Amino acid sequence: MLHYSIAVIPGDGIGPEVMQEGLKVLKALEESHGGIRFASDVMEWNCNYYLTHGRMMPENGLDTLKDYDLILLGAVGAPEVPDHVSVWELILPIRREFQQYVNLRPVKLLRGLESPLRYKGHADLDFVVVRENTEGEYSNMGGRMHQGTPYEMAVQNNVFTRFGTERILKYAFSLAEKRPGKRLTAATKSNGINHSMPFWDEIVKEIAREHPGVETNLYHIDALAAYFITRPETFDVVVASNLFGDILTDLGAATVGGLGLAPSANINPERKYPSMFEPIHGSAPDIAGKGIANPIAQIWSLAMMMDHLDLPEISAVIMNAIEQVLVDRKILTPDLGGVASTKEVGDEIVRHIYTATR
Ligand code: NAD
Ligand code: MN
Repeated sequence: MLHYSIAVIPGDGIGPEVMQEGLKVLKALEESHGGIRFASDVMEWNCNYYLTHGRMMPENGLDTLKDYDLILLGAVGAPEVPDHVSVWELILPIRREFQQYVNLRPVKLLRGLESPLRYKGHADLDFVVVRENTEGEYSNMGGRMHQGTPYEMAVQNNVFTRFGTERILKYAFSLAEKRPGKRLTAATKSNGINHSMPFWDEIVKEIAREHPGVETNLYHIDALAAYFITRPETFDVVVASNLFGDILTDLGAATVGGLGLAPSANINPERKYPSMFEPIHGSAPDIAGKGIANPIAQIWSLAMMMDHLDLPEISAVIMNAIEQVLVDRKILTPDLGGVASTKEVGDEIVRHIYTATR
């Protein structure tokens, strides 16, 4: 019997709505696979919790999470709480404390979908972005000065450590080595950002020398963003700093069906701490409470969780169920041009899981 404990943080807005469908999928996998059990505990840590307790999670929250095998997150953020509070007091501490320094974000056009890029198809859109997840531009170092005067200013430092930069690049190069394409593209901006980015480039070149089988390119982030649109077929593994990776992946998601379909995995490769799986989208206050959020990003993040657990056959069951729903085109949420609800899409994916495993 395989047994995994999962801390589930549904969060705010559409987070709990898509999480409900994710939990249904986990239950269907347990029931259809016999020897596997996911024991999940739900943590109601979100903006409501903040409004009552003045913090996003209990003081011992990270300690509580540490004992779980895995963490599943919906999305956090609510109009009543500043975004930097909800992000900095819940998501970023988890990523940092648990050394989830790899944020994996696939950009892949699933069967049944068309890209808004007119001449690009399935063979052109299949790569993965490796986003550095613990330092870089999200540094928490800096400050605000001279408030209330004409000299008011804000400073935020970028932090690139050798340790942090080497480990993300080593991960990205090894990943590229394992993929058939064996190509790595690193995002930089060493023409304008003249301390941290030249340092990043040097380390890219150092690690590249250790991986002669990987074809390596360094592109400035502005040009790279344009190449996402004009020649996505040239990408295999794209590695980027924290902020650049964040921006690139919303763009990447838009080329393969939108945020409703974009999953991510926050990985601690050493497996010393739990890894966390979540959609890349936020709490979408504009559609929250309507029951129309697309649950596929959340459910795809479960497939990434199965890959992390070395259960590729279960991951494939999830992905096939998602793709069948997309190919059928009958039960889709409004972001994909349909009229179905979050729950109806979840039910349909669950139905395909049972059919495939019967
Ligand atoms: P967002 O991702 O919530 O929404 C952007 C757009 O995409 C919206 O129009 C939304 O309706 C749409 N969208 C997102 N997910 C969708 C889904 N599953 N199905 C259909 N449409 C979907 O980004 P935002 O509006 O910039 O941020 C809203 C809140 O979420 C903010 O508080 C922000 O800080 C937070 N946020 C949280 C996370 C996270 O929890 N990891 C990530 C990004 C943003
Ligand atoms: Mn983002």
